[in-house]
Amino acid sequence: DGVIWLDGEMVPWREAKTHVLTHTLHYGMGVFEGVRAYKAEQGTSIFRLKEHTDRLFNSAKIMRMAIPYSKDQLNQAQRQVVRENKLETAYLRPMCFYGSEGMGLRADNLKTHVMIAAWTWGAYLGNEAMEKGIRIKTSSYTRHHVNIAMCKAKANGNYINSMLALREALDDGYDEALLLDVEGFVAEGSGENFFVIKDGVIYTPDLTAALDGITRRTLLAMAKDLGIEVREKRITRDEVYIADEAFFTGTAAEVTPIRELDRRPIGEGMRGPITTQLQSLFFDIVHGRNPA
Ligand code: PLP
Repeated sequence: DGVIWLDGEMVPWREAKTHVLTHTLHYGMGVFEGVRAYKAEQGTSIFRLKEHTDRLFNSAKIMRMAIPYSKDQLNQAQRQVVRENKLETAYLRPMCFYGSEGMGLRADNLKTHVMIAAWTWGAYLGNEAMEKGIRIKTSSYTRHHVNIAMCKAKANGNYINSMLALREALDDGYDEALLLDVEGFVAEGSGENFFVIKDGVIYTPDLTAALDGITRRTLLAMAKDLGIEVREKRITRDEVYIADEAFFTGTAAEVTPIRELDRRPIGEGMRGPITTQLQSLFFDIVHGRNPA
C-alpha cells in the first residue's frame, strides 16, 4: 500500500511498475540512494537529505546518466513520499534507471526514469546485532575502485559484487562480509563503511576503495566533537584482529558493532565502550536530540 513517486507523479504502490524490457534490468546501469527519515521532536525529518541527493547526482554524472529533475525537485519529492505515506520513520530508496526505450549498449535515445519509494525498515542487521555486535568474514570478493562501476558512485552494478560477498558470508555462518581492496587492504562491508578502535584512536580506511558514506561523515564529525582522534588510513587484516573495538556505519546499518572477524574475537568479543558511546550519540543526532 501507499504511494511511490515515479517520474513526477505519485503512483499507487502496486501500479509503480516497469516493463520487462527495462534497459537497467538487462545491463544494470542505474544509480540509487538509501536514505532514512527519523522521528524527531519537531516531526519526521529526513537525515542528511541534501548530501544524499548530491551523491545521487554525482553517481549519475560518473555513469553519464542525465537526471531530468533538479536537486530541489527530488528533495521535495522525497519529503512528499514520506508525508503522503504518513511515515514517522522511513527508509527511502530513490533510484534512476533507464527505461524500455531501446536495447543495446549504446544507450542512445534512452530516458532516465526516477522513482522514490519509502517504507518502514528497522535495524538492518537486526536488533540483537545493535547490542551484541556481529560476526564477519573477510570476503573472497574484492572491492574495486577502478573498472566496474568505481566506488564513488552508488551504482546498481556495484551491488552484484556486494551481494555475492554477503551471500558467501551468510552461507558460511557469518552476519556480514568485509571486503578487501585489490591490494589486500580493508575496504568496507557489502553496504557499510568500516571502523576499528585501538588504544582510544578511531581508524577507518581512506576512501580509495570505499564509498564516501554519509554516515561515515557523521561519525567523523561526532568523533571530532567528542575529542576522539580519528585517522583515515589503509588498514590491514591483522590490525583488525588485534583492535579493541570495531563497527560498521551506513544508512541502513546505522552504527552496528562488530564482535568478531574470521573467528577472532575483537577486543572482548562484544560491543565496546567507545562504540556504545558513538552509537548512542548517533541516535541522539538522527532524532534531533543533539545538534551535531
Ligand atoms: N558502502 C557501501 C558499499 C554502501 O552501499 C553504503 C550504503 O549506502 C555505505 C558504504 C554507507 O554509506 P551511507 O552511510 O551513505 O549510507
